[in-house]
Amino acid sequence: HCPVGALRERNDMDEVLDALADPDKITMVQFAPAVRVAWGEKAGLHRVEQTTGKLVAALKQIGFDYVFDTVYSADMTIMEEGSELIKRMGDKEKYSWPMFTSCCSGWLRFVKSEFPCFLPNLSTAKSPQQMFGALAKTYMAEKLGIDPARIVSVSLMPCTAKKYEADVEQVNGSGFKDVDIVLTTRELDNLILADGINAGELKEMPFDSFFGEGTGAGVIFGATGGVMEAALRSAYFLITKENPPADAFKNVRGMNGWKEATFTVAGTHMKVAVANGLGNARRLLNAIKAGAVEYDFVEIMACPGGCAGGGGQPIHDGREMAEIRGGELYNIDSTLPRRFSHENPTVQLTYREYLGEPLSRRAHQLLHTEVEGWDLTPETMKQ
Ligand code: SF4
Repeated sequence: HCPVGALRERNDMDEVLDALADPDKITMVQFAPAVRVAWGEKAGLHRVEQTTGKLVAALKQIGFDYVFDTVYSADMTIMEEGSELIKRMGDKEKYSWPMFTSCCSGWLRFVKSEFPCFLPNLSTAKSPQQMFGALAKTYMAEKLGIDPARIVSVSLMPCTAKKYEADVEQVNGSGFKDVDIVLTTRELDNLILADGINAGELKEMPFDSFFGEGTGAGVIFGATGGVMEAALRSAYFLITKENPPADAFKNVRGMNGWKEATFTVAGTHMKVAVANGLGNARRLLNAIKAGAVEYDFVEIMACPGGCAGGGGQPIHDGREMAEIRGGELYNIDSTLPRRFSHENPTVQLTYREYLGEPLSRRAHQLLHTEVEGWDLTPETMKQ
């Protein structure tokens, strides 16, 4: 924190309040996996009381017209990224290796500014936040019978870097600004407080319609190793047409800064690595550059512990919460009836009705982006 208060955190709450008060606007809010295991901390909720259903109820009480789950679009991200990995592996000579995940906005900014030689290695799949935004103003608008020009798409994220990501012009695919406003978990907590909501007394509410449908694979996106594990679960299915045991790839879990594992899928060995924290990312990238290590697929998250420990999450002086929150995400995953992104019925419907198949032309237009072409101003890069 700045000791004299001259540097302030960006605060977009007023923009949200204006949208909520505007009768011409339809407000649609999504919240990220990691937000569900941190939003109640400020209100002093016990971890078992801090449920997704209560957060939906709080957002409804605040006045959002539609409350949806980013886990749906995390499952979409896995379908696109997993399919991309398989496509690249089928034509190995054509691509640069390893393939890197692309859903962490802090990592994208870091690689673009400090290791641009690795930009071709990034998956082109957009982050769940941006996939959700692109689908909100196209497919969802069509499905719900809403004029997309009236939609204000708000996302609640554990992350301050997601604000710049939503502002990158080249990331938009819907013909509108895909995500209009991003609030961090800390801003969300202030919004709940400002509305006088007693979080402890909230009654559980379901998400609006099927865009609240998610799987355990999408939930673990919020923990380090989660994107890798979710992608491997579905890549295994896409290659073999059979599900692996849901915990087959759990070796990539845990708080170590740089983890590696080798898995065999249909006779092919796949060497993967997972790094969290930019110091570990730098070490790993330098080792790849020097030829000291070789991988097929690498997940990098800028924050220690991944989004569970994200820069926009509630702060507890002297206490690091990433491991506890991450553990809770794995608990949620283990209790859900569906633990594979390809089994999400809304994802299946989205492909059937709108996108055709993963990596289709329309999927590319809405759900993929070339970070190489992002126009980041020096101010944005510093943000
Ligand atoms: Fe944002 Fe940190 Fe998550 Fe990356 S790891 S998306 S910077 S919260």
